Amino acid sequence: MDPQTPVERLPGIGDFYSRKLKKLEILTLEDLIYHFPFRYDDFSNLKPISSLVDGQTVTLQGHIWSISNLRSRTGKFLTLATLADQTGTIDIVWFNQSYLTKTIKPGTFLSVSGKVQQEGRKPKLLAPKFEILGELMQTQTIHTGGLIPVYPETEGVTSKWLRAKIASFLSPYLESLLDPIPKDVTKRQKLLDLSSSLSTVHFPKESEKIVEARKRLAFDELFTLQLASQIRKRKWKEEKEASPFKIDHAKLKEFISSLPFKLTGAQNRAILEILKDLEKETPANRLLEGDVGSGKTVVAAAAAYFAYLNDLVTLFAAPTEILTNQHRQTLSLMLKPYNIKVGIWTASEKQEAGIICGTHALLMSYKPKREVGLVIVDEQHRFGVAQRGKLSLTSSKVKSPHLLTMTATPIPRTLALTLYGDLDLSVLDEMPLGRKKIQTHVVPNFKRKDAYKFIKAQISDGRQAFIITPFVEPSESMVTVKAATEEFKKLKGIFSKKIKLGLMHGKLNPKEKEKVMKNFKSRKIDILVATPVVEVGIDVPNATIMMIESADRFGLAQLHQLRGRVGRGEHKSYCLLFSDSNSQNSIKRLESLESINIGFKLAEIDLTMRGPGEVFGLRQSGYENLKIADLGDQKLIAQTQAEAKSLLELDPYLKKHPPLSIKINNLNLDYVQPN
Ligand code: ADP
Ligand code: MG
Repeated sequence: MDPQTPVERLPGIGDFYSRKLKKLEILTLEDLIYHFPFRYDDFSNLKPISSLVDGQTVTLQGHIWSISNLRSRTGKFLTLATLADQTGTIDIVWFNQSYLTKTIKPGTFLSVSGKVQQEGRKPKLLAPKFEILGELMQTQTIHTGGLIPVYPETEGVTSKWLRAKIASFLSPYLESLLDPIPKDVTKRQKLLDLSSSLSTVHFPKESEKIVEARKRLAFDELFTLQLASQIRKRKWKEEKEASPFKIDHAKLKEFISSLPFKLTGAQNRAILEILKDLEKETPANRLLEGDVGSGKTVVAAAAAYFAYLNDLVTLFAAPTEILTNQHRQTLSLMLKPYNIKVGIWTASEKQEAGIICGTHALLMSYKPKREVGLVIVDEQHRFGVAQRGKLSLTSSKVKSPHLLTMTATPIPRTLALTLYGDLDLSVLDEMPLGRKKIQTHVVPNFKRKDAYKFIKAQISDGRQAFIITPFVEPSESMVTVKAATEEFKKLKGIFSKKIKLGLMHGKLNPKEKEKVMKNFKSRKIDILVATPVVEVGIDVPNATIMMIESADRFGLAQLHQLRGRVGRGEHKSYCLLFSDSNSQNSIKRLESLESINIGFKLAEIDLTMRGPGEVFGLRQSGYENLKIADLGDQKLIAQTQAEAKSLLELDPYLKKHPPLSIKINNLNLDYVQPN
């Protein structure tokens, strides 16, 4: 069967289910087969009924003796059945499923899985999972018995449904399956073959094999990702030509010494890396990563200065109009000694010059009169890679501009090399001198009173505080708001009436939010109590305390950004972290915030301790669609990278590997090759 067969054309799926499957991003047969379980329930404990023990999770097989529906005194619909094997009988109760009596009849041979409840002498199973085995005794079960896969579900599409469909389409899929990975690669890496990996991951016979199967599938995923980015990188170099800049290092020295501050080592390094790129005839394609405040703008300004000296236009794109204006001001100031004008291109203001700041969207429609030598894109994560490609299209048709993208999202180097392997990377892993460190403490619960005392003292000194309420769930739901409101009431009881508290949560309307923020800024509120998810991105230099409940529920980089809301003024600032967890690991993880104040390092720690899903910013980056590979698996990343490299050395266009080539073209990454 063609792997690309749309699901609506598969027997037994139809329009109704294919619409629902779309929500799970399952569009084709292949998508369905590559919809992997996220866990397995272990029902491998097949038991004779006579041996049951209270509380055990078991799988039983036997014949139904009797089955009937009745209504309980409280009005519930119950289905009562008795199941028998050679050793005894057991009662089964299902709730609100009266339709079961249509399919389960006396005599039906049934496999059931669930937890045993012993009341008096007789064991009972409440609402067990079940599977009809038919008239004949059969041992091949998919929903009960052995390890049962549990899938990501959506409304109307249960794991049970998915299991049945995958079970019926797996063999036809496997029959026409071509393993796209070259044989010598799978051999060298000692990988399980693809066909058994897919069977095992869905219907494992023994748990030991699952690890191997998942490893094989993860290898494929990372390997193809690496190939795709290496191919992209080569194409970029082969197909494009840029105007090489002449770099006069005396001018660079002059520029650096005219700045009002001394550059950090990281800034100096990044500037040299970028200038080296600009000297080449292949267009630069570099990502500059740096924490908020690490000073990316001056690095970009240096590059723009050299574009100017080479008589080439620079386009500087930012996500919002406010940021665009800010950049223009900063650049103007830095380039003032050389009398360089910085233009602007926003909805409200248009002014041309050799260096033009604009919003992402507007710069796409901007038609330059001279050759654009450099495109700088700030806050890359808010701006699709695809769009970034298009931006460079607006310029000269003959030459491609050099491209510099900047991001504050702390993507660790290993991860960045996988996700953006086609980009060169510079990292500002050093903060400018003189930044005051925010004194951070992981506070044990028994010292909570002392923490409140400390906050009171700071407030009587005229300062203000943030308190982030306990984490309930990841969304700003009514449950979250209710919990925050309760916490707010509790805190009101703790602090005296003189101390004014304000509450901020996501269910407030924009006007209310603005009012709370204004009151906090004007010190009508001393303590701002806020839910974990609400955006409190405001500048209140007088706030000196950030207290965070359930800190263990956050990524370290996220906590780092939260604490960045204090320490903006002249006063010494503090971050107090409380944790719900007593686990040594979790405390240790939080304690890294006490000594480390670099977002990247923190993200790196999270990557090794918790995996990439937790690293802040990744979800927005559009790469969360890795199905099975763990981006924290540095060993596998290195292996796949090396294998991809050596394969492309032998077969640069994958001409000898058509199935692989097709697979890579089907990857559907958020990327448009600008050509
Ligand atoms: P970001 O990386 O967040 O874009 P900015 O470029 O906006 O950071 O820089 C933040 C602030 O730090 C600016 O006010 C800038 O002038 C200042 N700055 C940048 N580099 C240094 C440095 N080496 N020493 C002192 N201040 C610096
Ligand atoms: Mg910036």
